[in-house]
Amino acid sequence: MATPTRLTCLCKLVYEPADLLSSSTLPLECTICHCDTCRYTTGGLGVSCFSLKGRPSDKSLSNTTAYKTSEKYTRFFCKHCGCNVFFRSEEDGQWLAFSGIIEPDHKRAEEANEGETGGNDENVARVTSHIYVGDAHDGGMAPFLTRLGGRKAPCYVADAQDGVEPLGETELQELRGVGLDVASHERGSMMDVACHCGGVQLQVVPPAYNESSEGWHVPPDRSKYYARVCCCRSCRLALGFSLQPWAYIPPAHILTKLGEPVVFGPKAKETAQLERLKHYQSSESVLRSFCTTCGATIFFQSFERPDIINVSAGVVRSTAGNALAREWLHWDRRAVSYGGEAVDTELVEAWLAD
Ligand SMILES: [Zn+2]
Ligand SMILES: [Zn+2]
Ligand SMILES: [Zn+2]
Ligand SMILES: [Zn+2]
Repeated sequence: MATPTRLTCLCKLVYEPADLLSSSTLPLECTICHCDTCRYTTGGLGVSCFSLKGRPSDKSLSNTTAYKTSEKYTRFFCKHCGCNVFFRSEEDGQWLAFSGIIEPDHKRAEEANEGETGGNDENVARVTSHIYVGDAHDGGMAPFLTRLGGRKAPCYVADAQDGVEPLGETELQELRGVGLDVASHERGSMMDVACHCGGVQLQVVPPAYNESSEGWHVPPDRSKYYARVCCCRSCRLALGFSLQPWAYIPPAHILTKLGEPVVFGPKAKETAQLERLKHYQSSESVLRSFCTTCGATIFFQSFERPDIINVSAGVVRSTAGNALAREWLHWDRRAVSYGGEAVDTELVEAWLAD
């Protein structure tokens, strides 16, 4: 069995011992919420949380920004790196941690597994179901994550309550194809991007790839942008969930609401062009950007790869109401980035399966 070692965001200014978790043995059971609010406040396509024994420390909380999405719930993200860290239910005062901030002790897990075969002891989460799958017309990632480690993870349109039936296999199969056959005139002239609070709003012009375009980021369907899930530790600790969905877009195609090209590269840190966008330089050549009001992850850019910007797919606003926005995005499900760093291999294996 693996044990959690600590709870931390990417910049480590939110930092708690693992014994703040209600349970100390991994994997921890959870549901993935696919609701609009979870997607638009994080930039991910779904998130999960684990319950805590009590309130995080004042030191950690002093490094967070609270964002109240309703009378019932308050979300907390790191004000320095943007990671979604905690969640509080105002009704019962219960504190939860976003699952991506839990650091598993992989080394100990490997030692414990010596001589054993199979098993998924490295997973941090044991996902039991998907909820609010009905918020998006395509159900987002949920219809692709229904068989996890040999068990079924049912998909519920809204909350999983007594007497509510999950979606059947026929419905799930239909959802897996939604968005693929949307005609280009039905998808709108621009791909809209907006975080939950609306503080960061962007427009992306259609791809200009042609027959001679080449590169890993050029999808087979040249009318779309390439999209892929990243499982690296840095993306996980900047998002707060183990799967970071990215769309790969040339910088000149990303415009502000006023139609100005967004400033990228090292100069991005100095411009006030997007007032609500805050940057965190996670390494010498990497800049990660998030909304300073609601915490949504917006961009990842590497100065060493200036021709492509990663845009968080969870904040893409499909005209058709599809979370995967497949009228705009070609999802590569043959591979994930940094699969070796994945902490939830069950989810990765399901996403990559046919
Ligand atoms: Zn941080
Ligand atoms: Zn939600
Ligand atoms: Zn925002
Ligand atoms: Zn990554």
